[in-house]
Amino acid sequence: MTLDLQKLSAAKLWLISAPVAARDTNAPRDLPYLAHALYALIPVESAEVHRVTGDEWWRMYINPAWLDSATIPEAGAELAHLVWHLLADHTGRARDQDVDRSTARAWNKATDATISHTLAPDAIRPDHLATAADFAMRPGLAAEQYYARASGLPVGGGEPGTLEPTDGCGSAADGIHRRHEHGPDSDLGAVSTFDATEIRRLVAIDYRDHALRRGTDPGDALRWVKETLEPRTPWEPLLAGAVRRAIGWAAGRGDYTYTRPSRRASSLPGIVLPGQHRPVPRLSIVVDTSASVDDQLLARALGEVDGAIAALGVPGANVTVYSVDAAVHTVEKVRRGRDAKLVGAGGTDLRVGLRAAADERPRPDVVVVLTDGGTPWPTTPPPAAAVIAAILGRDRKDLPRTPAWAVRVECLVET
Ligand SMILES: [Zn+2]
Repeated sequence: MTLDLQKLSAAKLWLISAPVAARDTNAPRDLPYLAHALYALIPVESAEVHRVTGDEWWRMYINPAWLDSATIPEAGAELAHLVWHLLADHTGRARDQDVDRSTARAWNKATDATISHTLAPDAIRPDHLATAADFAMRPGLAAEQYYARASGLPVGGGEPGTLEPTDGCGSAADGIHRRHEHGPDSDLGAVSTFDATEIRRLVAIDYRDHALRRGTDPGDALRWVKETLEPRTPWEPLLAGAVRRAIGWAAGRGDYTYTRPSRRASSLPGIVLPGQHRPVPRLSIVVDTSASVDDQLLARALGEVDGAIAALGVPGANVTVYSVDAAVHTVEKVRRGRDAKLVGAGGTDLRVGLRAAADERPRPDVVVVLTDGGTPWPTTPPPAAAVIAAILGRDRKDLPRTPAWAVRVECLVET
């Protein structure tokens, strides 16, 4: 059975066209702002899915038998549902939440609850989609909030750890590749990350105009518009994520263990279980204590680094903290970055701090630099270390450049 492309076109037109006659329940939905996104979708037939799923490259996998049996409004509703997974970048956000095979169903359900809220006012919500009520929470919240609740609730579905093509809405929703999905380099074509950003921007502009003209309650999607047109991603999870990834990278490279000490271990005092004596990744923090750095912002950034280490449960983690302005003032071994005394208030040259970290033995695996960026940088990073440059500032457009070898995280004061 081949895909009925004509029906697919009709479903898209049904979503975007204005009704010609008096409104009945099946009249076109007048959502022209969705056009940029709908026409970017790449249809792929797949008998393995129930209805429609998507991947992160904007392919939609459609069961041709389902499309044959669906009405135009049913097909349109599924297309709108899928398009909102992609517009809201549920793939990227799933990765930010460390969604894996065991949590994918809960995350998928959380994202569906937000899409339900967006689609309901236009009566295009597919009946099978989860809603905020399934989480016993109010509608209009972010997927991350429903997901946080969902971690304590049974989500149902198949066995944890396996994800079938029929599970959920595809990697477009949870970032986890299914066997029926094609890779990024497939002949089918792909919407690149760059193009997707541009599509989101165009839809957001049209959506804002449309909502103003109509004067209806825009619901949850207006927040998406604001975030798409004026991105204000909180930096805290980005910094914590960068630290976790760097430590994970270091852990993968060496024979490290960074799992939580098992309960069994603590109930057997004096007995060392296998793995426990292995070294853990070493972390150094170079703190810019020159006068130009905002103390409060610095404290918050240090707290995030500490939080990321704590979340990994690195047993016996030791952190070396260098307080540097134009000279290294203090070097301390501490359990947490915020336990270090920070000294200095002069000009800025962090090269001395990075050199000191490079000379440390044993060598650090991860070096986190906290600075306003007004410093010269060495031409090369400390050998064999992953470097994170957390740039602390007020205004994104004033932030100085960082070297290509450092992972940059911009930490801005809320204004
Ligand atoms: Zn979905």
